[in-house]
Amino acid sequence: MLKIYTHSAFRRHDTGVGHPETASRLDAAMEGVRRAGASERVLSDVVHPDTGRIIAKVHSREYERDLDEACRSGMRLFHSLDNPISSSSFAAARAAVGTALAAAEDIWQRKESNRAFIVARPPGHHAERTEAMGFCFFNTIACVAEWLREQPGIERVFVFDFDVHHGNGTQSIFNERDDVFYASIHRYPFYPGTGAADEIGSGKGRGFTRNIPMSGGEGDALFLRAVEDEIVRIVDDYEPHAILLSSGFDAHVRDPLGGMRVTEQAYGELTRRVVELAQRHCEGRVLSLLEGGYDMEGLAASTAEHVSALGQVSSRE
Ligand SMILES: [Zn+2]
Repeated sequence: MLKIYTHSAFRRHDTGVGHPETASRLDAAMEGVRRAGASERVLSDVVHPDTGRIIAKVHSREYERDLDEACRSGMRLFHSLDNPISSSSFAAARAAVGTALAAAEDIWQRKESNRAFIVARPPGHHAERTEAMGFCFFNTIACVAEWLREQPGIERVFVFDFDVHHGNGTQSIFNERDDVFYASIHRYPFYPGTGAADEIGSGKGRGFTRNIPMSGGEGDALFLRAVEDEIVRIVDDYEPHAILLSSGFDAHVRDPLGGMRVTEQAYGELTRRVVELAQRHCEGRVLSLLEGGYDMEGLAASTAEHVSALGQVSSRE
């Protein structure tokens, strides 16, 4: 059973005129949910009571306080020219974490569903422990991974990030850990500059980070080959208890930022492969979080394919 999650606070994060990360992205993603026939499965404005505690585990208290104060005091930027804020941005970023944790609880604790797609903004995968970057403030997918690690029986969490940009924040948060595997397909070299193939984690985490760089202009063939040849093998070796997706659709051929040529059909195909892996290793359970995607039609079409594939029910479930 697939559920879709969103929150009214996401719309109030105002990035100003001309910024690509706007509230209309929520409408585009929801249009994709509608096209996938999943509008009836949308839950809104449900957050998890562990939200504050988990944010404090992933980010420093000082960082959280600075962001809150910056939003309250009417500042227009936080840490980076890429990160405009408004008075409601702190609440929106916090709601993204709270919504994703509520979805995780429905899947892994209540067992009411086995798949979730979270239509959230701001995105999260560039946010580091003490630094906001690339339109991101709190690292939502890292918060979900941390929460899952507290659940009995969940010892290994696999995060697959297929946003066109490398998820530097998620990588750095789990760089020295073997209990959260971070794998990413992304354009390289490109923003944010990290994600080379030789970044593989360090210390105890060595070998538990995998970066698959792609050149600008590449399309479906290379993108899907990376999934078939690398991601499938990694997941089969790692045998995770939970699979999380940082789902950015900015490698889409229409995207104004990504410079790649991936189609919505490839996002559907990628998602089917991930669902098969989840069926093999973790009872079909997948939580997918919206990260990037800046062309409204590209985002709607890609979301439709992604959500359709997540909603597939196989005879094994
Ligand atoms: Zn991106």
